[in-house]
Amino acid sequence: MGIATINPATGEVVKTFESLTDSEIEACLESAEQAFTRYRYLPFDKKAEWMNRAAEILERDAQRFAQIMTLEMGKPIKDAIAEAKKSALVCRFYGENAPQFLADVPAASDATRSFVRYQPLGAILAVMPWNFPFWQVFRFAAPALMAGNVGLLKHASNVPQCALAIAEIFKAAGFPPGVFQTLLVGADKVAQIVADPRVKAATLTGSEPAGASLASEAGKNLKKTVLELGGSDPFIVLESADIEAAVQTAVTARMLNNGQSCIAAKRFILADRIAGEFEKKLVAKFKALKVGDPMLPDTEVGPLATPGILKDIDEQVQTCLAAGAIALTGGHRLSERPGNFYAPTILASIPPGTPADQEEFFGPVALLFRVKSLDEAIALANSTSFGLGASAWTTDTAEQDRLTLELEAGAVFINGLVKSDPRLPFGGIKRSGYGRELSIQGIHEFVNVKTVWIK
Ligand code: NAP
Repeated sequence: MGIATINPATGEVVKTFESLTDSEIEACLESAEQAFTRYRYLPFDKKAEWMNRAAEILERDAQRFAQIMTLEMGKPIKDAIAEAKKSALVCRFYGENAPQFLADVPAASDATRSFVRYQPLGAILAVMPWNFPFWQVFRFAAPALMAGNVGLLKHASNVPQCALAIAEIFKAAGFPPGVFQTLLVGADKVAQIVADPRVKAATLTGSEPAGASLASEAGKNLKKTVLELGGSDPFIVLESADIEAAVQTAVTARMLNNGQSCIAAKRFILADRIAGEFEKKLVAKFKALKVGDPMLPDTEVGPLATPGILKDIDEQVQTCLAAGAIALTGGHRLSERPGNFYAPTILASIPPGTPADQEEFFGPVALLFRVKSLDEAIALANSTSFGLGASAWTTDTAEQDRLTLELEAGAVFINGLVKSDPRLPFGGIKRSGYGRELSIQGIHEFVNVKTVWIK
């Protein structure tokens, strides 16, 4: 299926869309280029006014936007409402803070006056995933547009109505034509768009192969990229931890977005002495989760976004089980109902050499490991090729120091859930990608850091 809305809770094809033709893509690129010539010089006040209006629209119509998200990718409706509201937050954050983040910075030199000036680059292509179909786009667009760039969105092919709704929001907020456009195209059009001289840089949130593909096309054309890719985040629980709080957060951290979050906790690394208690409590909470129709307000776990994701996660689980892992709960599809439902699953006693070592499990599956020491916990946490986020639970400050120092990740959260927050930079290392979004670092990714030297 090309570009289409397919309800993951039922499998029903709700609506299909035609990809833009080459001449329509050309018109969008030209419109972006034209818009940039004027938009770049508009004052911050004007841009902030429109950004704040976008925030108001997101808040006012959160329920309507949430229904589109849930229909297209299956996240529980209450999470989708929260996502629309969080998207408003990032608009307001950059509306307020962009002037200070992008103010000239004096620098002493042999000039009479020298300083650093941040200027926009032009049209930035954003290739985005379906899993946070609003948030991912707004966390790119709010800083990019406040910096004076113009945005081109190539959204995932399974969330076209989200993509169109986002373009409508920017339009209704008052941004001039061409400043933010949705291009309804498949992945096969990305290379030609990146290569176009009117596109100055690109960002991609998604899988490793997609990131590598975009980066190589951009590299051929000497264009900067930011990549936010996958993760297999560790969630370490040590002896001194508040077990009750850790278990509660573990459930949220693993089940967020039906288990399909890049920063979901995926590998639970437990100190031997508390492992039994933690496992017992986690199993009870997984068994109590309400799985079902994501449109219902009390549903906690909905379907996976596509049949392909369902197939992949089940294959990973079955491979682990065949190698000797034990399912403490779940371990199978929920085939008594239509749609892409998978049972909340906990795997323990996983032998080495399974997909659990290196692969990302993108679904409601927790992988449990036991360790004898902090050294072993850190080594296991760092043993994957990913490095996105890490959560560690301990009240011992010496352990906290070692964890914040030695964990290989773009973010370490001690005694808390790994989450994105407009005030803090977000991004990964290793095969989780490079560059940062959010905070001051995020808005500096797509600007010309211009040195000005005046005698
Ligand atoms: P995906 O298949 O890589 O798709 C993401 C986007 O890339 C879509 O718009 C897709 O378009 C496009 N794409 C796919 N192949 C491409 C290619 N060869 N060249 C250019 N663009 C291409 O990823 P997904 O499976 O939807 O998303 C899940 C992955 O995203 C997970 O690994 C998750 O961890 C990661 N993720 C990371 C973050 C983060 O912030 N680090 C956040 C969310 C998700 P089509 O839909 O048209 O194929």
